[in-house]
Amino acid sequence: MARALFEEDPGLNDRRRSRLCLVLNGATLAQDIELLDRYRDKVDLVEVRADFLTPEELSALDRFPSFFDRPAILTVRRVCDGGSFRGSEAERSALYRRASGGDWAAVDLETDFTDRELASEFGRRGVRIIRSFHDFSGVPSDLVERVRQVAPGELPKAAVMPRTTAEVFRFLAACFRLRHREKIILAMGDFAVATRIVSAKIGSAISYCSLPAELGRIDPEIMYSVYRFPAITRRTRLFGVIGNPIAHSFSPFIHNKGFRDLDVDAVYVPFLVDDVAAFFRIARLLGVEGFSVTLPHKSAVIPHLKEADALCRSVGACNTVVRRGRSFYGYNTDVGGFLSPLRNYFPEKRFSSLRASVIGAGGAARAAAYALASAGAKLLILNRTPQKAAVLAAEFGAESGPLGTEGFQKMEDFADLIVQTTKMGMDPDIEGDPLVGYEFKGTEIVYDLVYTPRLTRLLQRALEKGCKVINGEEMFMAQAHEQFRLFTGLESTFKNSFIADFNQSVS
Ligand code: NAP
Repeated sequence: MARALFEEDPGLNDRRRSRLCLVLNGATLAQDIELLDRYRDKVDLVEVRADFLTPEELSALDRFPSFFDRPAILTVRRVCDGGSFRGSEAERSALYRRASGGDWAAVDLETDFTDRELASEFGRRGVRIIRSFHDFSGVPSDLVERVRQVAPGELPKAAVMPRTTAEVFRFLAACFRLRHREKIILAMGDFAVATRIVSAKIGSAISYCSLPAELGRIDPEIMYSVYRFPAITRRTRLFGVIGNPIAHSFSPFIHNKGFRDLDVDAVYVPFLVDDVAAFFRIARLLGVEGFSVTLPHKSAVIPHLKEADALCRSVGACNTVVRRGRSFYGYNTDVGGFLSPLRNYFPEKRFSSLRASVIGAGGAARAAAYALASAGAKLLILNRTPQKAAVLAAEFGAESGPLGTEGFQKMEDFADLIVQTTKMGMDPDIEGDPLVGYEFKGTEIVYDLVYTPRLTRLLQRALEKGCKVINGEEMFMAQAHEQFRLFTGLESTFKNSFIADFNQSVS
């Protein structure tokens, strides 16, 4: 009898978890073994992708499962389904037949695979039949029906490609309609990354991971260590961050670490979002309890909230949303996060005598200008596009100017504190410096909101002249700490050194 695909029956209850399957996409058995060796403790299953193997290796394909101490799925994927197999269907059948003597737990055969006798042959050996279909063009309108058409006893597998947030919603709605059917259901591509992590919540028996992490799959190490994939069930509380782009956000690393440290059954996932209204529908459907908001959605979320707090309304930006019942409430933790590291340098009373320059006139500049002006500081706002600086300055009774000699002359009189809020200097633009030509005197406190790298070109120059410097990490950690409190009611364990620790651990 073949090895069971699932060591114990996952069932369909709320405590069911999804199994993590490592796609073995090596060209040789040795490469596949090496890949599994790297991630052995992190994955439940392996999928041998025979379509990536060299012809020489294929002759021994039936022996492959005996080299893996995990249940193995056999797959020979055609080019049209995203694989590399270029032979005829007869050749594909022959390859499956040659491998059929192996100790496979399951074999993945597409719904349009016509060799029915082959499926029976595997079935007689106790090998589970996964009956799959792929759609790389979107989310088909008959997704539910196609899954239901798969014969009872076979495990349906649907892989589709949502290209927008609205399509992710349609995909999730289909998953919920299929919640009483055992199945593998997955979405591919950048919009789908979150659904791969919470596959237990959408009722998929398996989630796939691979190296390289492509098609929305995630690196197995990150799945295990950051998202604690094996602990996620339908009951796990769900939080996240929305933005566009979102792939490089640090927030999942920070909030998930917070949950782990405090032993909270919750997960925080990144949602690539191109349509805020569609995301609110997803949040209701999936039961998202709270989410962070980053570029470019900080203003766009406000009309969808039942209530936005006074800070959101004053700054015109919301970076934290919390759900209570069916309604969503907005908060702004950027302003408090911005002020947090400054309190060490300027006790409350000294803010009123402060003369500060804000570089930039975007969303972060707005939060900084609001925070400083509310605390009584006198401001100068400089921006590449001086008109935008003038508009912002008018709101806060500040002066304004262009980036360059004329603006730098004005800065002489607003140099107790210099706050850099543009993207210049942010990885990968690490040589970027918006104040080229400005000579630091050494008395300024220089605060750069960029947090990757920790020491920007601007901060390096300021340090060399003896200035005190603050980097964006402190603001980032402070605003995240406050978000965590709003999400969970708990004090986080975040440390300011977290990003540095993280950088070290992945370098
Ligand atoms: P934004 O709204 O897009 O504003 C971008 C600003 O950067 C504008 O003033 C823009 O000038 C300026 N800019 C862009 N490219 C420039 C260039 N090549 N030369 C000169 N100026 C340039 O973005 P944002 O939300 O304000 O975010 C800006 C930065 O703050 C990002 O690096 C972000 O990571 C950081 N941030 C950090 C935290 C934290 O917690 N540490 C929080 C929020 C934001 P124009 O008006 O002329 O286009």
